[in-house]
Amino acid sequence: MEEPIVQYKNIRKSFGDVEVLKGINLDIMPGEKVALIGPSGSGKTTIIRLLMTLEQPTGGIIEVNGENLWLMQNKKNELVEADDKHLRKIRGDIGMVFQHFNLFPHMTILENCMLAPTIVKKKDKADVKKTALEMLDKVGLSDKVDLYPSQLSGGQKQRVAMARALMMRPKVMLFDEVTSALDPELVGEVLEVIRDLAKAGDMAMILVTHEMDFALDIADRVLFLNEGTIEEEGHPTEILVNPKSERLKDFLTRFT
Ligand code: ADP
Repeated sequence: MEEPIVQYKNIRKSFGDVEVLKGINLDIMPGEKVALIGPSGSGKTTIIRLLMTLEQPTGGIIEVNGENLWLMQNKKNELVEADDKHLRKIRGDIGMVFQHFNLFPHMTILENCMLAPTIVKKKDKADVKKTALEMLDKVGLSDKVDLYPSQLSGGQKQRVAMARALMMRPKVMLFDEVTSALDPELVGEVLEVIRDLAKAGDMAMILVTHEMDFALDIADRVLFLNEGTIEEEGHPTEILVNPKSERLKDFLTRFT
């Protein structure tokens, strides 16, 4: 049987005295598209920041491809805290696109995409350029490669951020409310690119989104998070069209 690419096992996370994740159990299969919905402050972003190792859990473990994110075996087969090499290896399978694009303003679009693979992974520049052009083509920006971020619209910048994340050929892509900072007329083009990526294939995706129609269209599974627990989960139509819990019903009425 196929193994999950990502497993959250009883993940807890507190900030100070406040427990924002209260025991999350979640398996994500290779290629699966999971939408995370829920009220502001319910813990959605924290779930994906943990996977990106931007936060450490207070309890529980996360495995990627069966490997613990924060622990590794040393030469004596003892479990020890993960070193940078271990973290980099696992993180290489995970890409993330944020609400704000975080592009380098003094670099062209092409240079922005080439930076991490050239510097961090020390890959051959000609190969990296070829990949960057391919990824920028995927997000529909072939004609913009020599422009600077300030010369692009918000939607185009977000598509560059996606191309940049795709450069590492991640097995899992995380999208954190990638359209919520955009002007409404620019949302569609960004969703369209994500939709194409989703339909194209075998990359698993976790999407934090308030775009319910979009979730209905592309997700294999929708999770409704409430106060740090997964309150309801299932097939998109089950969750979004025939919700069971009163809280989920109430939440959804705010988006229709
Ligand atoms: P969501 O994405 O569902 O809006 P978040 O995961 O961003 O929720 O946040 C969950 C809760 O954790 C919120 O109450 C938020 O204020 C709190 N929180 C998130 N990050 C931090 C942090 N670095 N320090 C303190 N509190 C935080």
